[in-house]
Amino acid sequence: MAVPKRKVSKSRRDMRRANNSRLDAPDMSKCKNCGEFVLSHRVCKACGHYNGAEVISKAEEKK
Ligand SMILES: [Zn+2]
Repeated sequence: MAVPKRKVSKSRRDMRRANNSRLDAPDMSKCKNCGEFVLSHRVCKACGHYNGAEVISKAEEKK
């Protein structure tokens, strides 16, 4: 839907941009192992578990 640039007021243009760029909080869920909030579909940062199984062992970590 192309509209000539000068036909769209600053207000309309800015309102459109404001709605499209709204920030959403990322989807968080609780880790099944430690109860920490984790990003869904990511390994838990606190204990290295994902979907109830240990994926990254904390002992292996180098830092
Ligand atoms: Zn965890």
